[in-house]
Amino acid sequence: MNILIIGSGGREHALAWKMAASPLTDKLYCAPGNAGIAQEAECAPLDVSDHTAVIAFCKEKKIGLVVVGPEVPLCAGIVDDLEGAGIKAFGPTKWAARLEGSKGFTKDLCKANNIPTAAYERFKSVGPAKAYVRKTGAPIVVKADGLAAGKGVVVAETVQEAEAAIDMMFGGGLGSPAWEIVIEECLVGEEASFFALCDGETAVQLASAQDHKRVGDGDKGPNTGGMGAYSPAPIMTDAMNKRVMDEIINPTVRALARAGAPYKGVFFAGLMITKDGPKLIEYNVRFGDPECQVLMLRLMSDLVPALIAARDGQLKNFDLRWYPDAALTVVMAAKGYPGNYSKGSVIEGLDAAAQVEGVEIFHAGTKADGGKILANGGRVLKVCARGKTVREAQVRAYQAVDRIKWHDGFCRRDIGWRAIEREK
Ligand code: AMP
Repeated sequence: MNILIIGSGGREHALAWKMAASPLTDKLYCAPGNAGIAQEAECAPLDVSDHTAVIAFCKEKKIGLVVVGPEVPLCAGIVDDLEGAGIKAFGPTKWAARLEGSKGFTKDLCKANNIPTAAYERFKSVGPAKAYVRKTGAPIVVKADGLAAGKGVVVAETVQEAEAAIDMMFGGGLGSPAWEIVIEECLVGEEASFFALCDGETAVQLASAQDHKRVGDGDKGPNTGGMGAYSPAPIMTDAMNKRVMDEIINPTVRALARAGAPYKGVFFAGLMITKDGPKLIEYNVRFGDPECQVLMLRLMSDLVPALIAARDGQLKNFDLRWYPDAALTVVMAAKGYPGNYSKGSVIEGLDAAAQVEGVEIFHAGTKADGGKILANGGRVLKVCARGKTVREAQVRAYQAVDRIKWHDGFCRRDIGWRAIEREK
């Protein structure tokens, strides 16, 4: 069949790389795509917020399946519109995408279904929010409702910091004034990312991963979209995975089905593994980026039939196989990220880097200009490697990084440290 991927980042490059290898894929398109994705798929310069244009493209190209990568089109209801036009699409409906789009929605769903998560309250104005913070004390976490590209969360160490975050969010510091915020208990433990495919009734666990959100070595500095990741996450033992399925994922699947809006797509649960067990920090309704890259490197099975089965409600009895190897990805970002950075610098050495054993390089923000590859975003490249251990994958990934000549770029040098310490 002909398949269209929506998106333009490293996640979509990894999906395109995996799906291009499927015998079920005739012609692969990606809208809008990037310079790396163009090696796997035909990039279509569509405005993906124009659902009518996407539908017209799908009809013209006889697209049999649309796979939506990012959360913004999902929350805008692209799956509803495509399915309404008779085009099969992988991903949740607009209603179900509120699991990511609205923190209040998710927290209420957790409370109603006894899904373990941080204790919380929802607020629509500054006064009661500050009073709650003063009563509860710090550390405490302040979150704006709605999509905020990873910037809507402040883990406040003091009451003053929490009050400043409340003022900032209601005062428009995130672009527009928050209409609601959630204030929640600060969880203590180790974070992990958990993925499952769901067809509305049945959820199938995917591999686990851990990412590094802070920009600097030693997990220091401001938060980013993610500076690197690895899979599997050592803390996610079989017993812990089972608890997450039993206590978090399956109750969510049942609750959404009971509400008349069965969830089809990927669950990406951000977890805190506390001393009392796994707790949900947040749901995302799509693959993580950069976690998707390490998942795709480890997935032995064909991804396309799994996505079709999720869309068609056929995941029961579906089994996915994984390579036992570890995988790790190092994000190369433009100097200045996550603050201001410039675009347009030349990146060289990509072919030499890709020669390192076990390495795949996925593009996140690049543009082709004649024969040159130019940086075109904050996070620009995802240098990934497989290895028998996280350590081996790390060594290979950094060997590749060191062959890339990009004077305007930087990366962390310690991706995977937590897992590697455990391996020792
Ligand atoms: P989120 O965007 O909800 O994933 O939050 C971003 C980051 O903030 C998470 O990856 C955690 O490191 C941290 N965080 C969010 N909520 C909590 C919480 N309740 N307790 C501790 N840390 C949190």
